[in-house]
Amino acid sequence: MKITRLTTYRLPPRWMFLKIETDEGVCGWGEPVIEGRARSVEAAVQELGDYLIGQDPARINDLWQVMYRGGFYRGGPILMSAIAGIDQALWDIKGKTLGVPVWQLLGGQVRDRMKAYSWVGGDRPAEVIAGIETLRAIGIDTFKLNGCAEMSLIDNSRAVDEAVNTVAQIREVFGNQIEFGLDFHGRVSAPMAKILIKELEPYRPLFIEEPVLAEQAEYYSRLAAQTHLPIAAGERMYSRFEFKRVLAAGGLAIVQPDLSHAGGITECVKIAAMAEAYDVGLAPHCPLGPLALAACLQVDFVSHNAVFQEQSMGIHYNQGAELLDYVVNKADFAMHTGSFAPLMKPGLGVEIDEALVIERSRDAPDWRNPLWRHADGAVAEW
Ligand SMILES: [Mg+2]
Repeated sequence: MKITRLTTYRLPPRWMFLKIETDEGVCGWGEPVIEGRARSVEAAVQELGDYLIGQDPARINDLWQVMYRGGFYRGGPILMSAIAGIDQALWDIKGKTLGVPVWQLLGGQVRDRMKAYSWVGGDRPAEVIAGIETLRAIGIDTFKLNGCAEMSLIDNSRAVDEAVNTVAQIREVFGNQIEFGLDFHGRVSAPMAKILIKELEPYRPLFIEEPVLAEQAEYYSRLAAQTHLPIAAGERMYSRFEFKRVLAAGGLAIVQPDLSHAGGITECVKIAAMAEAYDVGLAPHCPLGPLALAACLQVDFVSHNAVFQEQSMGIHYNQGAELLDYVVNKADFAMHTGSFAPLMKPGLGVEIDEALVIERSRDAPDWRNPLWRHADGAVAEW
């Protein structure tokens, strides 16, 4: 079998799908994208395609090494996201060729169902509480919300009170009947993270995500030393080689590699295994589309340390399309009591509505990262 063509489709809300075709009629789909830089990743996919066309898609391990080591300069969000989507599509082809789901090819299930959590948006406590109530009605009991708005390097007690007040109200309304993680989104400086984590401790969030930016990863172990709350991070780390450093340094309780940013299934299975050796949980990052989610689930079902799966149903970023819009087999993604079942169809387990993908790709918006500024006009982390 030989790869004959790579076709990319940029799509609403902020996604990109990749179709890899072969000379035997089997095709695979993947989701190579970095949010806000889809066109850059698209160019990287096409560059990598120069080598891939004419190659045997079954040699995933070798093709991965060529895409990574075959470039003197490697790593980073653009290239690793391009590799990730290509890798997903190659696994899809392999599964479809052999007639089994990818998790079978990775050794089979370690669990029967995979716990997921849902994002809750809203700027005011009442909105967040209403959002949780709506999702609870459909059986979801685990959530994630942003821990705070923009925060200055040294901010005032009003900003701290605002963040703490939302969380306090959630616990007051729901008691211990729900769980929630708090995402600081890299918005918080190391000095403010210390204060916020201490103030939030009494409300027992499930974890604190990206308490500081990945660029300041040296603080993860220091922050972990002063709190009992689990610290999570990893959506802005792109390979084993980056996860190696944070795992060795200690402090993280949960790693969150993104299957569409960190080299795909091939790389993330290895990251999961590295984390298991450190007694660190796995919670793949996934605010993206159905192919990215399917790739995450393949890894979750073969990784003993997988604890939660993020998913983007109803997420505030999904403007113009929802998670399952381009999926034919929507029922396979149905959650029961807040968990996913393993996808049973061959490959990634996603049947793509190709006609709709082609149609919607014609007027795909160029989604951009919101640009925030502090009160004094300086750029703020979003
Ligand atoms: Mg996050």
